[in-house]
Amino acid sequence: MFYPTVYLPAIIEAIEQSINAHADEITLLDQTLGDGDHVSNLQRGIAALKAHSSEYPPLDWSGAWQKIGMTLMTQVGGASGSLLGTLFIALAKAGRGQELDLAQFARIFEQAVIAVKQRGKSDVGEKTMLDVLVPISDYLKEAAAQSKDFTQLWPELVAVAEQGVESTRTMRATKGRASYLGERSLGHIDAGAKTTQLIINAIVRILSTTDD
Ligand code: ADP
Ligand code: MG
Repeated sequence: MFYPTVYLPAIIEAIEQSINAHADEITLLDQTLGDGDHVSNLQRGIAALKAHSSEYPPLDWSGAWQKIGMTLMTQVGGASGSLLGTLFIALAKAGRGQELDLAQFARIFEQAVIAVKQRGKSDVGEKTMLDVLVPISDYLKEAAAQSKDFTQLWPELVAVAEQGVESTRTMRATKGRASYLGERSLGHIDAGAKTTQLIINAIVRILSTTDD
C-alpha cells in the first residue's frame, strides 16, 4: 500500500510547524557547530513549498518529488539546500514510472540516499543528516525484506530517526562547516540530522493518522 500525494500539503504544514517549534534549539546547534542559518534556510524552502502546495496532489509521487526537489535546490541556501534537493530529485528519478510498494520505495530511497552521499562526498558517521537518512534507508530495506506493511513501520521509523540523531552527539564532524571545529564538535547533535528527524516525524504523524 502506498499513500496518495494528496497528503503532501498536510505533510508540508506539519513539517513547518515542527521546524518552527524547534527553531531556537536548532539555530543554537547550527551556531555552535556551523553558522546558525540552517533553520532560516529551511524555513525559506518550506515557505516556497507551501506556495506551490496545490500543485502536488494532481501529480504522481515522482512528479511531486521532482517539483519539491527543484524548489528546495533553488530556495534553500547552504549545504542542506543542495543535499535535500538532491534527495528529492533522486527519489523522482528512481521512482519514475514505478508502482510503489514498500519494497520498491525502500529501493528508491536507497538510491536517493546514495545520491546525497555522492553530492556531499560524505557517508554515515560524519555527523550530518546522513546519520539519520542511512539508518532509515537500512530500516526500510529490512522492513521490506520482512514483508511488513507501511502501517507497521511508524513507531520504528520514529525510533530509528531518534537513534540516528543521538548517534551524532559522540561523532567528530568531518564534513561541512562543523568539520572546522574538529574535536570541539564532540558533545553536540548535528542540526541537519535533527531537522531530518523532525521532517520524518512530521511525515509519520500525518500518514499514521490516515486510514488509507
Ligand atoms: P551550511 O552548512 O552551508 O550553512 P545549513 O546550515 O543549511 O548549510 O546545513 C547544515 C547541515 O547540512 C549540517 O548540519 C549537516 O547535517 C548537513 N551537511 C553539511 N555538509 C554536508 C555533507 N557534505 N554531507 C552531508 N550533509 C552535510
Ligand atoms: Mg549553516
